[in-house]
This record gives sequence, structure tokens and C-alpha cells, in this order.
Amino acid sequence: MKIVNYTELAVKNILNELFENFSAKPNYCDCQLCKSRAAAMALNDLRPRYVTSDAELMAAKASFQSPSENAALVAIVMDAIRKVLNEPKHNFKPLTLE
Ligand SMILES: [Zn+2]
Repeated sequence: MKIVNYTELAVKNILNELFENFSAKPNYCDCQLCKSRAAAMALNDLRPRYVTSDAELMAAKASFQSPSENAALVAIVMDAIRKVLNEPKHNFKPLTLE
């Protein structure tokens, strides 16, 4: 079974770009745990967009590239990164579930 949540792909791309903007913060950390927590936090606030074909993937991509959609997404991801950096939980063990 091959399904992909396009929202997840979009969030991960935006997150990787945005993390660079936070490098001046005193509590800046881009370890896998902080990045994963920020991605999960943002995705929990967003509607998933599952696709099963290249055509649907292209359609999803096109809709996310509209300026208003993209701005909303960037704002949600930025907010999640800010929250994670303000309260890192480095004592958390990462998921072991495959
Ligand atoms: Zn970290």
C-alpha cells in the first residue's frame, strides 16, 4: 500500500528552510528530536492531504504553492518551531516504532 500525506512533505520542506532562520536564538537546536517535535506539532494543526497517484501529488503541490496557502503553512510551522525551541525536551526518547 502506497499512500503519502502531501502536507507532511510540505511541512518538512518548510521546516528545514525555516530552522536556519532560528539559528540566532540562544536556545537554538536543530537536533532530530527538536525537528521531529516541531514537524509533529505543526502537522497536528493541519489537515492531512493523502495522495495515491502522481496526478494527485501534482494537484496537491499546485494548491500548496498558492501564496495564501503557503503563507498559512509557513506561519503554523514557524509557530511550532518557536514553541519547541522555547521548551526543548531532550530527555524524551525518540520513537522506536518502525
Ligand atoms: Zn534539540
